[in-house]
Amino acid sequence: MTLDWIGSADRVRQLPPYVFARLDELKVRAQEQGLDLIDLGMGNPGGPTPQPVVEAATLAMQNPEHHGYPPFEGTASFRRAITDWYRRRYGVELDPNGEALPLLGSKEGLTHLALAYINPGDLVLAPNPAYPAHFRGPLIAGGKVHSILLKPENNWVIDLGDIPDAVAEQAKILFFNYPSNPTGATAPREFFEDVVKFAHKYQILLVHDLCYAELAFDGYQPTSLLEIPGGKDIGVEFHTMSKTYNMAGWRVGFVVGNSQVIQGLRTLKTNLDYGLFGALQTAAETALNLPDSYLTEVQNRYRTRRDFLVQGLAELGWSIPKPLATMYLWIPCPPEIGSTDFALSVLQQTGVVLTPGNAFGSGGEGYVRISLIADCDRLGEALNRLKAAHIRYQSEPVMV
Ligand SMILES: *Cc1c(COP(=O)(O)O)cnc(C)c1O
Repeated sequence: MTLDWIGSADRVRQLPPYVFARLDELKVRAQEQGLDLIDLGMGNPGGPTPQPVVEAATLAMQNPEHHGYPPFEGTASFRRAITDWYRRRYGVELDPNGEALPLLGSKEGLTHLALAYINPGDLVLAPNPAYPAHFRGPLIAGGKVHSILLKPENNWVIDLGDIPDAVAEQAKILFFNYPSNPTGATAPREFFEDVVKFAHKYQILLVHDLCYAELAFDGYQPTSLLEIPGGKDIGVEFHTMSKTYNMAGWRVGFVVGNSQVIQGLRTLKTNLDYGLFGALQTAAETALNLPDSYLTEVQNRYRTRRDFLVQGLAELGWSIPKPLATMYLWIPCPPEIGSTDFALSVLQQTGVVLTPGNAFGSGGEGYVRISLIADCDRLGEALNRLKAAHIRYQSEPVMV
């Protein structure tokens, strides 16, 4: 029986179509046909959670103290681990009482922050392309999103000069994310200084997503919004345990920064959830306290894959600069073919799954994202299949 009298709420119906849907369908069909898929489409790091983290969680689970409702604002001990980590990594002092809040994954927090602060009709600035929660959260809240189109000639960094004065004056929040998913771009410190000035001038809340804080290479150290003078006065920063610590399934993230803004998010969340299972907070705390050698190992793993794939793609005609951070390569589609068609054709011909760039907004059209979530053996196999299928990047017309 279909309930034809009940339609989804407008806030759900008006969301742009989910580009992954057709790809997912084809993936399932290919798998049914026994095709060996190499899935480089997801942002889901392969590999287990570090053993000390699993052990800490197992032990914590035996503790009845964690079996009841956790405190709404998170355990004092996890909040302290977060602020200690900030001091260690960024030299930033934060108050564990009010300037740090554990989340059920950062996606949850990002989307709920939009619900906590955006009224229907409010104007929100978001880059395009962007991680979907940065524009879908505001849309769910009924906000209007002004897309800041990112340009390859600006290395995919927001050009604040592209935002008209009238738009900036109306805007309430700016979402941004460097190192960036999907483009792999990093923004120079001057950009952070400029964006803080911009936010103060126009009274715009800055929401920075620093999910890839630790996945940086070649000596590059990502910038925290909170290390910029004035940053904490006007912004918050989101983090996740999912990527660096292979904890995507555990659903742990956190937000730090302006206490008033965090309090607003917390107020909304007390109506929606009861916070994060205490044993998971113990586990996350253990992860944040892992020795730096763990980070070095993770960074080496992704850097090796990055170098391997950039080299292999160069042999197929792609010349792409090595990203200084993240677990993604952002590569142009061969001329004359759109993102979706290119990703579908690669999947059908080779079983290699890439993410079409337009899944991250219209500004990602003409690109695909490759995740460095497979080891070099599998990446090599993916390259061999592309080669065998004569899939290459041709930037110049072929001479005949
Ligand atoms: C993966 C990712 C997230 C999601 O993190 P969770 O904590 O697993 O919800 C958020 N932002 C960006 C930019 C991401 O790439």
